[in-house]
Amino acid sequence: MSRSRIFSEVDFDKEGKQSGFLRLPHSVHRSAYGWLPIPITCIKNGSGPTVLLSSGNHGDEYEGQVTLMKLTRRLRPADVKGRIIILSAANFPAAMAGMRTSPIDDGNLNRSFPGDPNGRPTAMIAHFIETVLLPMVDVAVDLHSGGSSLMYIPSCLARRPSDPAQRARTIAMMRAFGTPIAMMFDMPQGEDRTLSGAAERVGVGLNMGTELGGTGTVTKSVLAYAEQGVARLLDHFGVLTRPLTDAKPGPTRFLAVRGAPDYCYAPDTGLFEPFVELGDTVAPGQAAGAVHFPDTPWREPTIAHFENGGLVICKRIPGRIERGDCLFHLGSDYDEG
Ligand SMILES: [Zn+2]
Repeated sequence: MSRSRIFSEVDFDKEGKQSGFLRLPHSVHRSAYGWLPIPITCIKNGSGPTVLLSSGNHGDEYEGQVTLMKLTRRLRPADVKGRIIILSAANFPAAMAGMRTSPIDDGNLNRSFPGDPNGRPTAMIAHFIETVLLPMVDVAVDLHSGGSSLMYIPSCLARRPSDPAQRARTIAMMRAFGTPIAMMFDMPQGEDRTLSGAAERVGVGLNMGTELGGTGTVTKSVLAYAEQGVARLLDHFGVLTRPLTDAKPGPTRFLAVRGAPDYCYAPDTGLFEPFVELGDTVAPGQAAGAVHFPDTPWREPTIAHFENGGLVICKRIPGRIERGDCLFHLGSDYDEG
C-alpha cells in the first residue's frame, strides 16, 4: 500500500469554498472505527496558481495557526484567482495538545517526511502532505515559530536556490513577506525530513518557511507580521483578485545560516544566565552565557561560547537548561557573491 489511507472530505478540484476534515483512520480502545479529524479548507475560483498555507506542523507554534484560522474564515471565492489550500493544524493531535510533537505517537511532523501511509498518525500525515497535497501546488508556505522553548526575531527562511532566476524569485517572495529577518540556508544540518524538504523533492516551484516568534504565545506585533506577510504573499503569488492588505512590507535584512557553528548549545545542565539578547551582534568565541548549579551554588558556573560570530536571531527562553539544549542561533550577513 503506497496510497494514502487518509480520506479528504474536501474535493480539491471543486470550485468554491469548502471546509471539512482529512479523516485519518485511528482505531483505538475508545473508538474502534474512528478517525482523527484534521481540518482543511480549499478555496478555488477559476484558473491561477495553487498555494498551500500550513501551520501547526509543530503544535505549540501559535502565530501561524491564529493567522490561518482567521484567513480561513475571511477568504471568499471571489477573493481568489486560482486555489488556496489552508491546513492550519497540520499535526492535528499536536496542535490540540499544544505540543511540538504528537501525544499519540511522539511524532515530530517536521522530522517525518516523506512519511509512511502504513505508519503511525504523524507519518501518515507527512505522507499525505508529500504525496497528495504538494503535487497539486505551485507554492508552499509553512508557518513556524520558536515554539515553547525558543524566541525568534520574526523571520522567514528558504533554501538558497543555485539557479539565479529561481534565487531572484525566492528573494522577491521573502521581501514581500516583509519580516525583519530573512534567512537563506544552503543545507541546514542536512535536514530533508521537513515539509520544505518534501516540497523540494516534489518539485514545488516556490517554498518558504517562517520562524515568527515563539515561547508558546502570541503577541500583537508578531501576529501583525504574520497576517500582513501572508496577505502580501498571496497577492505576490497572483492568487488574489484584490489585495487583502495595504500595509507595505518593512525592510528585510537577509542573513545566511551556515549550519552547526551558528548554533550555541548548553555545555552543562543547570540554570542559564544569558550574556546577550536577541538582536545583539556577537564575535566568534564570545561568551554567550553562564550555567549555574543550584545544587552546588559554590561551584563556578560553566561558560557557554559562540563558535561563529553574527546576529543573535533566536534565544532559548526557559531558565532551566540541560546539556545539548540550543541556547542561541545566529545569522550572518548574506553575501550573494
Ligand atoms: Zn516549528
